[in-house]
Amino acid sequence: TFKGWVIDKGEAGQSLAFRDFDDADLMEGDVTVRVTHSTLNYKDGLALTGTSPVVRRFPMIPGIDFSGIVEASDHPDYKPGDAVVLTGWGVGETHLGAYAERARVKGDWLVPLPEGLTAEQAMAIGTAGYTAMLSRMALDAHGLTPAQGPAIVTGASGGVGSVAVALLARAGWHVIASTGRDGEADYLKGLGAAEILDRAELSKPGKPLGKERWAAGIDAVGSTTLANVLAQTRSDGAVAACGLAQGMDLPTSVAPFILRGVSLLGINSVTTPQPKRREAWTRLARELDLDTLARMTSRVRLEEVGRLGPEILAGRIRGRTVVEVG
Ligand code: NAP
Repeated sequence: TFKGWVIDKGEAGQSLAFRDFDDADLMEGDVTVRVTHSTLNYKDGLALTGTSPVVRRFPMIPGIDFSGIVEASDHPDYKPGDAVVLTGWGVGETHLGAYAERARVKGDWLVPLPEGLTAEQAMAIGTAGYTAMLSRMALDAHGLTPAQGPAIVTGASGGVGSVAVALLARAGWHVIASTGRDGEADYLKGLGAAEILDRAELSKPGKPLGKERWAAGIDAVGSTTLANVLAQTRSDGAVAACGLAQGMDLPTSVAPFILRGVSLLGINSVTTPQPKRREAWTRLARELDLDTLARMTSRVRLEEVGRLGPEILAGRIRGRTVVEVG
């Protein structure tokens, strides 16, 4: 048997429990992994609390990402003892997930633990950090460089935001970190932010076009914030949209697109094809400063993660949280 969290749904609504499982409870898959680490992402908060319908199978073991060691494999690329990482693919949503000591998944979903990272560091990065890298890669592919002007990161004290600040600063960008947390200016400057912007400046409805303040952006917030970020992006700049912490809506106009040639780049980390996935992880291992990563990371034990759903949704979790499973 092994231990894990489970979300169940009954007449009284959703319930969450920590209990024993059998290997026979695991779903189909060609690789069985002893999970050593997982993490807490915004989507885990949505799943744990049932705030939005992230979980689409019950009972569900929540947890959308893990690192661990292969215990059994029928997949040609993996053998027992291999260190692996998983993010996305509906794990913790439609397929039993990461907040348990064991997981069985499709080998095609895994990536080998990138050289240069420990299993814990890979999860300090986790889905949030991997998404920050996909966002950076999208800005790079658009041809943007620090010579074109500053870059804004919204939701900067959160998981995606913290890694995005660190990655952009390390690449030479003048990073403007937008946050609602007064007390985190020193934290964000420690990650490499050059300027702090009060998120209240971006969260209320604004003009279709504003002063051109940045050439690039990574937005974890959506809604009015993203609309204002677009309205203040320089000509031919681009913004990578990866999140919805403020809301799923996007009350914008076509003005930034047709009058300034601004581009909106969509980021989906869940079903990214393998080559791009591996490129992102290789770049994370090479380009993210590991001391900076350590500064944004806290740890909790598997038994504790069940109570953290409301905390992350309320914006009270700073940076990244590793869940120690093994
Ligand atoms: P997180 O750690 O909770 O970070 C979100 C941050 O957004 C918060 O720390 C807070 O930053 C800011 N925020 C929260 N509520 C807000 C509000 N009402 N208005 C304005 N700002 C608000 O979550 P995360 O794990 O980094 O994820 C961030 C977002 O990216 C989530 O929406 C998540 O679903 C999304 N995401 C998408 C993908 C994808 O594949 N596209 C992958 C990963 C994550 P401050 O306190 O600094 O203001």
